[in-house]
Amino acid sequence: MKKISILGSTGSIGLSTIDLIERDRQNYDVVALTAHKNVDRLAAQAKSLNAEMAVIADETLYEDLKQALSGTKIKAMAGRTALNEAAESENDIVMAAIVGAAGLEATLSAVRKGTDIALANKECLVCAGELMIDLARQSGSRLLPVDSEHNAIFQVLDPKQADKIDKITLTASGGPFRGRSLPQMQNISPAEAIAHPNWKMGAKISVDSATMMNKGLELIEAYHLFPIEINQLDIIIHPQSVIHSMVSYVDGTVLAQLGSPDMRIPISYVMNYPSRKLTPAKALNLKEIGLLDFFDVDEINFPATKIAREALQLGGTAPTILNAANEVAVYAFLEGKIKFLKIVQIIEQTLEIMGSEKITSLEALYAKDEETRIKASELI
Ligand code: NDP
Repeated sequence: MKKISILGSTGSIGLSTIDLIERDRQNYDVVALTAHKNVDRLAAQAKSLNAEMAVIADETLYEDLKQALSGTKIKAMAGRTALNEAAESENDIVMAAIVGAAGLEATLSAVRKGTDIALANKECLVCAGELMIDLARQSGSRLLPVDSEHNAIFQVLDPKQADKIDKITLTASGGPFRGRSLPQMQNISPAEAIAHPNWKMGAKISVDSATMMNKGLELIEAYHLFPIEINQLDIIIHPQSVIHSMVSYVDGTVLAQLGSPDMRIPISYVMNYPSRKLTPAKALNLKEIGLLDFFDVDEINFPATKIAREALQLGGTAPTILNAANEVAVYAFLEGKIKFLKIVQIIEQTLEIMGSEKITSLEALYAKDEETRIKASELI
């Protein structure tokens, strides 16, 4: 029996993880499930999986959760400390699937404890990559990447041959607006932006995919996860999302991982690592797909990857600022406060205003994250 907790169980990654657990029930013991506000779904999941505890991050919803779980032995908890407690509970693996830097503290709690992390929450690494990697090294926690691109690299990168890697190529679908010019993206609505052509995901990552900032965040994520320099990281547009990423070695060999665009494949891989199990994902049928296309990234109309690369090069607090400004701008767009193209402009302006400083501590990073959110909100 593997003891597992899911931080962000009510979201898209959380649901896919639960789907896999339900199909392999005898091998999992669910310790904690967490959500932000969705009490009903959280309580239903906790009951159906017989979890030990359920945590709602929004403290004002504690009574609702308690009531929803009355008559069961499931412990209802609420708030930030409770999230950390869930992350620190006895687990073999913690699925980090909260969206945004809101998941950082709890994920770090699990890392500190030395637990293996199924890492979906890429914003953690963007915001606090160096600190998180250092903590994982000290505690022995393994960061197993769930993001399909990083999972692909993880599957084909041989760490023993790290010095023989020429480059890593992240594939990108290009999102729903690939091929459009800036004027053609003036009036995009939130509904259009979250309708991704290949993947069904949460709202924030869907907007990130539409602006291409998702690939920018992934560039930073890859830099922290793998033994590679910034100039060895490449991005290629591959609209079919069949090749999930590639590693090129110095002898000319390119190793890639292919599969149907179904997050249950990378999730299953990390949950069963280093073994593999049957998944319900559709088998890849290359004859049916026929053609695989590849294009350059259009950084004129989609400057997000360039901005993210520059923030990574600048280092220090720049990626933290990039991430926080992006979160604020994406939610402002989803709430109809700014237009689509403003998202990336706000990020650029925030980075310009705030510059970059050396990272001195985790507390300093949290303060920078907070300061950025205020600055970006002012700009909005
Ligand atoms: P969703 O928006 O679908 O789910 C987010 C989860 O986090 C929900 O459980 C939500 O709870 C919870 N949550 C949101 N805000 C907070 C908060 N402030 N405090 C505590 N919990 C919170 O996101 P996804 O599942 O799409 O994405 C999760 C992470 O995985 C992201 O970092 C994303 O980039 C990454 N990822 C996602 C992929 C996908 O296919 N979806 C692919 C690759 C990476 P509630 O339901 O109550 O709001």
